[in-house]
Amino acid sequence: MEDCLFCKIIKGEIPSKKVYEDEDVLAFYDINPAAPIHILVIPKKHIKSLADIEEDDEKLLGKIHMVINKIAEEKGFKEEGYRVIINCGKNGGQEVMHLHFHILAGKKLGEKVV
Ligand code: AMP
Ligand code: ZN
Repeated sequence: MEDCLFCKIIKGEIPSKKVYEDEDVLAFYDINPAAPIHILVIPKKHIKSLADIEEDDEKLLGKIHMVINKIAEEKGFKEEGYRVIINCGKNGGQEVMHLHFHILAGKKLGEKVV
């Protein structure tokens, strides 16, 4: 998608600090970290939001969770724990309209909403 910030990061048009990459998934550090470790995991396919997933995306969404697991293991915060957040749409506070999973780790996280 031409005007999408994260599609530009996928294409390398905007630099990012990559954590993981394969043919379907990219993970990189958030530019404005909300925790000592703040990583974004995104599908390479442009999906606007969680509200826009289709049945065909089932496998991809499962894979993203496996990638999150792998990153937690490799970066060493799997044991201590972490939080995964998806903001969806206006009320969910989504600012970048390309589906992304926030991984927050590295401290005891506060402000639990649920
Ligand atoms: P959201 O509010 O859920 O849409 O999250 C968007 C996230 O993208 C925010 O946490 C931003 O800090 C992050 N972000 C915006 N631009 C960049 C960028 N160029 N590189 C890395 N992260 C970014
Ligand atoms: Zn995109």
